[in-house]
Amino acid sequence: KEKFKKVVLITGGAGFIGSHVVKIMVRRYPEYHIINYDKLTYAGNLETLKEIESEENYTFFKGDICSESDLKEVFSKYDISDVIHLAAESHVDRSISGPMEFVLSNVVGTVNLMNVCRENWSDLNNHVFYHISTDEVYGSLGEEGLFEETTPYDPRSPYSASKASSDHFVRAYHHTYGLNIRISNCSNNYGSFQFPEKLIPLMIHNAVEGKDLPIYGDGLNIRDWLWVEDHANAIDLIFHKGKNGETYNIGGLNEWTNIDLVKRLAAIIDQRLERPEGTTAKQIKFIKDRAGHDRRYAIDASKLEKELGWKPSITFEEGLENTVDWYLTQQKWVQGVISGEYQTYYEKQYN
Ligand code: NAD
Repeated sequence: KEKFKKVVLITGGAGFIGSHVVKIMVRRYPEYHIINYDKLTYAGNLETLKEIESEENYTFFKGDICSESDLKEVFSKYDISDVIHLAAESHVDRSISGPMEFVLSNVVGTVNLMNVCRENWSDLNNHVFYHISTDEVYGSLGEEGLFEETTPYDPRSPYSASKASSDHFVRAYHHTYGLNIRISNCSNNYGSFQFPEKLIPLMIHNAVEGKDLPIYGDGLNIRDWLWVEDHANAIDLIFHKGKNGETYNIGGLNEWTNIDLVKRLAAIIDQRLERPEGTTAKQIKFIKDRAGHDRRYAIDASKLEKELGWKPSITFEEGLENTVDWYLTQQKWVQGVISGEYQTYYEKQYN
């Protein structure tokens, strides 16, 4: 029998957002046993969790959410009380070149995980199943307006279609079987430990190496950006205070065109590396647009702010500077995660 008050299974805890959630939960709640359940795909890396790996209330379990036997094993080994589900294939470009992995991990994996929860939890009301999702399920906005929790789903990429599908299954399991769920849909995250295929770390890495800074299309696509630790704090809040069956949007009210964002990053890098002003921006190169590229995303997070009292802790300017400094000083981590498979992917994508 567990000596802990709760045993929380966090899936995808070796990835970018999941690792921040794991670290916060392990440190903030010593009375909880945090189990990090992750398949360790190219995007999962245990180096990211070094700071907490020897904590008494932390355990890593290597498992695939698509494997019923892996899930059964973890549930039989630990008395799991709740699930925070982040494991997914997460990169839009990869979903365009290979959609099936996204169907398997994001849709089949989520349903598989909920089935095992149902089999193991006799009173579904006493357990929380919290599904982490994206604002991309809502599609693309025009110049005006914000995504609200009630905005109809309109996914455009295989990635967002797979996340939309898993959101629907989670809601269906709530209505059909009474699973005690929460869903949150968040905008683009940035910060430390993000895999360098994503826009901000990719640009920092290429800037430092003197490579091109590839920008899709005209660079005028707009994204709302949120500091990953603010997302992790929102997840903590929703896990503890969110209501059964509810959806919460999470975002920074912080819209940037891709080109302005990259120019801002280039300016910070010039300063940090003591390059003459404007040097790094010369590396910018416009490339063929991503297929089906959504034009604008923006989130209305007022429900989360009003009902649960959440708000972002730092400005985007501060967050970007912190992020550049983190990548400049953590080259060992970057080199470790981009070796191997990533090189082949990068060559195919950008050359
Ligand atoms: P990530 O790609 O960095 O990490 C995903 C993790 O899931 C990796 O550790 C990987 O090994 C693991 N994983 C993948 N498939 C698995 C499987 N079948 N079984 C077990 N583990 C598996 O992703 P991220 O950016 O940290 O995103 C985490 C979650 O948040 C995802 O569900 C994503 O859709 C959602 N989300 C991400 C963003 C963002 O900006 N990155 C924004 C909103 C929502």
